[in-house]
Amino acid sequence: MSKRRRLIVANWKMYGRLTSGLVLARDIAEMAQNARPLNFDLVLCPPASLTWAVSDALQGMPIGIGGQDCHTATHGAYTGDLSAAMFVDLGCRYMILGHSERRHGHGESSELIAKKVEAAQLAGLTTIVCVGETAADLEAGATEEIIQKQIRESLPPGVKTANLVIAYEPVWAIGTGQTPTPEDVVGVHKKIRKMLGEIGETIRILYGGSVTPSNAESLLSQNEIDGVLVGSASLNADGFWAIAEKCQ
Ligand code: PEP
Repeated sequence: MSKRRRLIVANWKMYGRLTSGLVLARDIAEMAQNARPLNFDLVLCPPASLTWAVSDALQGMPIGIGGQDCHTATHGAYTGDLSAAMFVDLGCRYMILGHSERRHGHGESSELIAKKVEAAQLAGLTTIVCVGETAADLEAGATEEIIQKQIRESLPPGVKTANLVIAYEPVWAIGTGQTPTPEDVVGVHKKIRKMLGEIGETIRILYGGSVTPSNAESLLSQNEIDGVLVGSASLNADGFWAIAEKCQ
């Protein structure tokens, strides 16, 4: 069992409407409530349109709420954006940043992500910073180099390590059904800890990429893996809980 308290995060991406999102959130919350006290932290990151409804519905439940992205500024003329403090207003305590769908789909650089991490931490949020190599990086044997660079450049100077979680998410494993072996994940996590130096032992490092109820056990039985970030499989309450309860 990991020395650090485990963390299971649901990333709903751009899925869910008001009714279906609330049903999903309540179903997960009911299972979490029945399993109380939880030996791990459980976080739901719905799309921003549902953040308030979900956080309001889950008040008093053993579940944290997170955002999927935020702006670097506290406020301003940024049409369509939301600041970290606005997510706090919506009931969030966590923020996913640097997800590959933002890095690759929206051209976000590590420098921009570092500014977002700074802004989110200033607002009091725990930041879940995603890093991961592409299939081409993997083929070129560049995983370590890429991750080192992403971590170095995505963490702002003075990053609050108590409010920092790293998610190792190989881009080629996200939404593809392909996963690295648990041993490969452990190898990368160890390298990340080494890179982080003294703080490496206390930071939670999650794995993300096609986690399902069938592969969760082999991943979560590794001490090095402090939890998982789950995309598609988090859209089904029973499936998501089957993953989460491996930590109980
Ligand atoms: C993700 O969105 O971070 C993710 C890991 O997605 P999936 O579980 O669907 O691969």
